[in-house]
Order: sequence, then structure tokens, then C-alpha cells
Amino acid sequence: MLIRCPHCNKTNRLAVEKFSSTPSCGACHKPLFSLPIEINQDNFNEMINQKVKPVLVDFWAAWCSPCKSFASTFTLGAEKNGSEVIHAKVNTEKELLIASEHNIRSIPTLIGFFDGKELIRSNGALSIDQLQNLTNKVIYQL
Ligand SMILES: [Zn+2]
Repeated sequence: MLIRCPHCNKTNRLAVEKFSSTPSCGACHKPLFSLPIEINQDNFNEMINQKVKPVLVDFWAAWCSPCKSFASTFTLGAEKNGSEVIHAKVNTEKELLIASEHNIRSIPTLIGFFDGKELIRSNGALSIDQLQNLTNKVIYQL
């Protein structure tokens, strides 16, 4: 799967099996999942259908101010829990097809996926504690 490094923007080619460890960027050597990664039409389905690690996806848009304030919370979540749950972001203005396929009616919306299944969904910006609760549910539902 091609994954753009959230630290240096270099595109990494990474086998899904490597998700079980803590994969690092080939260019800057920082852990790829210690910040939210941007995903799009090219890698979204492969990302949510893999069953190595659950994925929490933040559906957002640049015009949405609650999305902007939630972005820093989501970043803190990735720093803390990125080794257990991949934190990913989908820009709903660019990825209209993904947003429509997953019935995104308001943003921000968070969806936890594992093995192609939607585990949990939450609408609206969350506090760091609420995000941690949701992340725990994604982890323990496995
Ligand atoms: Zn990098």
C-alpha cells in the first residue's frame, strides 16, 4: 500500500503485514502512524479492508471549523494510540465518492473500521477523553 508520511510527505510503499510492527518512514525514519495519515481513493479500501490493525477515520473538510479544532485532538490521539489503532483522515471535499459510499451526512464524523467492517461511528468533534473512550471501543471490540 502507498502511504504518504505525515512527517515529511514522502510516499512509502508498505506491505500490510508490516502494520503489525511499528513501521517507519524510509526517508525521515519517524513512525508512520504516530500522526494521522491522509488517505484517499487510491488506498482507502485497502486500508479499511486489512485485518492487521484497526483504523479510525476522521472525515473532515477545510471549511468546517469544528473539524479544525478536532484535528489537534485527533493528532494527540494518534500520538498516544497510533501503535494500536491507525488514525487516518479523509478530506470529504476531495473524496466525494468515499464520503457518499459511507453515508457521511455531517462532519466531523469518525468511523472505526476493521476487516472491512464498520465497528463504530460518532458525529461531531470529541474531547480528548471522548476520543480515548471511542478508541478503546475500537481496540476492545476486536
Ligand atoms: Zn517521513
